[in-house]
Amino acid sequence: MDWLYQKRAGAFEEMTDLPQSLRTRLAEACPIGKIDIVRVIGSRDTTRKFLFRLMDGNLIESVLIPASPALYGERSDRRTLCVSTQVGCAYGCKFCASGLEGFSRNLHANEIVDQIIAIERASGEEIDNLVFMGMGEPLANFDNMIRAIRIINAPWGLSIGARRITISTSGLAPQIKKLTDEPLQIRLAISLHGATDEVRNQIMPINRRYNIETLLSACDYYVARKKQRLTFEYILIAGVNDSDDQALLLTRHAQRLSAKVNLIPYNTVDGLLWSRPSRNRQEKFLSILRAHGIPATLRREKGGDIDAACGQLRLQTKQGRDRTIAVSRPHSGVKARPGKTFCAHSKADV
Ligand code: SAH
Ligand code: SF4
Repeated sequence: MDWLYQKRAGAFEEMTDLPQSLRTRLAEACPIGKIDIVRVIGSRDTTRKFLFRLMDGNLIESVLIPASPALYGERSDRRTLCVSTQVGCAYGCKFCASGLEGFSRNLHANEIVDQIIAIERASGEEIDNLVFMGMGEPLANFDNMIRAIRIINAPWGLSIGARRITISTSGLAPQIKKLTDEPLQIRLAISLHGATDEVRNQIMPINRRYNIETLLSACDYYVARKKQRLTFEYILIAGVNDSDDQALLLTRHAQRLSAKVNLIPYNTVDGLLWSRPSRNRQEKFLSILRAHGIPATLRREKGGDIDAACGQLRLQTKQGRDRTIAVSRPHSGVKARPGKTFCAHSKADV
C-alpha cells in the first residue's frame, strides 16, 4: 500500500525493499493496471478536462475544478476532481452527453482511484475534494465504487476525508438505502431536475422505475440515519422544469428533507436541442426557493471557453469527429445541431 499509494510506484520492480523473487511473483500474479492521459483541455487556473484511455482501449473523462466556493458543503478554496464510474451510462437522461452512446461497462475500483493518482501526477496538484459526477451512474456500480472510496479514504490510501467526497445519483432508490447502511460519512447529491413525476418522466427514464415519492422516501431514510444534509441538483432547462410551480413544489421537497438546492443552468450538448432559461428566469426560480428559506445556489460557468462537455470529449475523440455530433436517440425527440458545449460540472456558485 505504501509503495502504491504513498510513493505511487508504477511497477513492482520499483519496490526495491521487497525481495526480488517476491517482486517477480507479484508482477506475474497481479499486474498493476494503468490508465493513460490522452488529451487535456484547459489551463491551470481554469477547469481542466482529462481524457483517459483504459487498458482495454475504452475512453473516460475526469474534470479538475480549481478553487471555487463551496459546492457540496466542503470548505472553499479546494481542488475538486470530478471522476467517472462507468464507461457510458445506461440511464439515458435526455439532456446528458454521457448516456448518448449507451453503456459499455463498469469501471473497476482501481480505474476510479487511478483517475485521481494520474491527475495528481500530471498536474502536480493535490486533490482535496472528490465528486462522483463524471460519466456513469455511481450507484449502479456500487461495489467497485465503495471499494474505490475505501482506498481513497484510508490513511494508507489517498487520505481524502469522507466528508470531502460527494456521490451524485439520478435516483436509484434501493441503492440509496444500501449506501445509507454503509458506515462511511460521504455526502449525497440527488439529481432531481423535476419536482413532479410528469416533468421527471419526460427527461429521466429512471423516474418510471423509482418515482419521486419512492426516491424521496429513500432520501428520508438517508437523512434520518446519516444526520447529514443532502443536496438536490436541479438543472434549469428552458420550458421544461423552470416554471414557478416547479420551484414551489421543489421547496416542499427540500423542506421535507432539509436539503439544499444547487441550481445549474443547462449546459448545451452538441446534438441536443435543450437550452437554458434566460438569466431573469434563473434568478426568479432562485428567488422563490430563497423566499421559502431554502438554502439555494445558482451556478455559473468557470472556464466556459473549454469546448467539450463531460462525456462529449470522449465521443468526439472516439468518433474522430470534431464539433458536431449527430445524435438521434429514439426517445430524445430532438434533432442534431452543432453548438457550443460546456462541461456540466465546471461551475462556481453565485
Ligand atoms: N449519474 C449521476 C452522476 C453523473 S451526472 C447523476 O446523474 O447524478 C452529474 C450531474 O451532471 C447530474 O446532476 C446530471 O444531471 C448533470 N448533467 C448532465 N448533463 C448536464 C448538462 N448538459 N448540463 C448540466 N448538467 C448536466
Ligand atoms: Fe447517466 Fe447521470 Fe447522465 Fe443520467 S445524468 S445519463 S444517470 S450520467
